Amino acid sequence: MIDLHTHTVFSDGVLIPAELARRAQVAGLTAMAMTDHGDHSNLDFIIPRLVTVAKELNAVMPFTVIPGIELTHVPPPIIADAAAKARDLGAQIVVVHGETIVEPVCPGTNQAAIKACVDVLAHPGQITEAEAALAADKGVLLEITGRKGHSLTNGHVARMAKKAGARLVVNSDSHAPGDLMSPEWAEKVVLGAGLTSEDFQAMQKEAQAFLPNQGLAKNASLRMLVVDDDAMSRMVLCRSLGAYGECLTAANGREAIDAFRRALAENRPFDMITLDVMMPDVDGRSALTQIRFLEEDRDIEPEKRTKIIMTTTLSERKDIEGAFRDQCDAYVTKPVRVDELLERVRQFGLID
Ligand SMILES: [Zn+2]
Ligand SMILES: [Zn+2]
Repeated sequence: MIDLHTHTVFSDGVLIPAELARRAQVAGLTAMAMTDHGDHSNLDFIIPRLVTVAKELNAVMPFTVIPGIELTHVPPPIIADAAAKARDLGAQIVVVHGETIVEPVCPGTNQAAIKACVDVLAHPGQITEAEAALAADKGVLLEITGRKGHSLTNGHVARMAKKAGARLVVNSDSHAPGDLMSPEWAEKVVLGAGLTSEDFQAMQKEAQAFLPNQGLAKNASLRMLVVDDDAMSRMVLCRSLGAYGECLTAANGREAIDAFRRALAENRPFDMITLDVMMPDVDGRSALTQIRFLEEDRDIEPEKRTKIIMTTTLSERKDIEGAFRDQCDAYVTKPVRVDELLERVRQFGLID
C-alpha cells in the first residue's frame, strides 16, 4: 500500500518524518509521500528537509519516502507558479488541497490545479464533470480520501472520475498516527465510495509511478537535467522523466553548465539533458557548445558523452539542424509531447 498524501511536523502533522515512516511501515505500507501544507512562504523550508530525510531513510529502511508538498489554500492564479517552484526545490510529488466541502477553499482551485498539471488533486469536493474530464486529459490523479470530513464527497468524486475517465488514487491525508490506513482499510474506503476491488488495485498501480526508478531504467542511477526558462515546461518534463530516475532542473544555460560541471566533478555525469534553445543569460546553443567542450576537455569518448535533446520551436529548428547537428543527439519540437520525448530516450537505450 502506497499513500501519497500525509503530513509531518513541518506543517500540522504531529510526527517527525522518521516516526511517520516507521509507523506507516508497521501499518503495512511500503511507501508514502510526505506532503506538508505549503504556500509561497514555506516551500523552501519544507521541501529540502523532506528531500534530505527521504534520502537518508530510503537508504536504510525497507520503505520508501517520497518527498512532496500539498499546496494548500494557495490562490488559484498562483498555484501553477507554486507548483513549479516546488518541483524546482525537489518535490517528487505535488498535491493540491482541492475544493473540499468542509473548508472555504477558493472556488477555481480544482481547475487551476488541474491546469497546472499537478500530480494529485486531493479531496476535490463537488468537482464538476468538465473538471474531471480535464484531469483525465492532463493526467492529474483525483483523490479518494480516508480523512473525515473531506471524505463526505468520495462517492461524487468516484462517479465523476468514472464518467470522465479520470484516474484515481486513495490516500489517508494522515496528520497523526491514528490516521494511517492499512491496506485493508484503504480498500474499504474505496469500496465505500462505490468503487470495486479492481479499482483499488488500479489506484495502487497509479501510486507506484511515484516510486523512484519505476520506469524500468536500465541504469538504476539514471540522471537527467531539464533546462528551460519556463517553469511550467520544466515541471511537465521533470514530472514525466522523474519516473525513470533522478531529474534535476536548470532555468538557463548558465545554470545548466554549472550543473553539468558539478555532475562531472562528483563523477555522476548526466545521462541525458533536455535543452531549450531560447533562454535569457546563456542560451541553449552556447550551453550545448560549452558542455561538449567540457566533455572534450576531459577526453570523454564520443559514445559516452551525455545525450542531449534540444527542445525547439519549429522556426528555430532549421537553424539548429544546420549548425548543431553534430553536437546534439536529437530534437523535439515545443510544446514537447511526452511520448515523443520518451521515445527518444528509449532510442538512446536509457530506458526500456
Ligand atoms: Zn493539515
Ligand atoms: Zn492534506
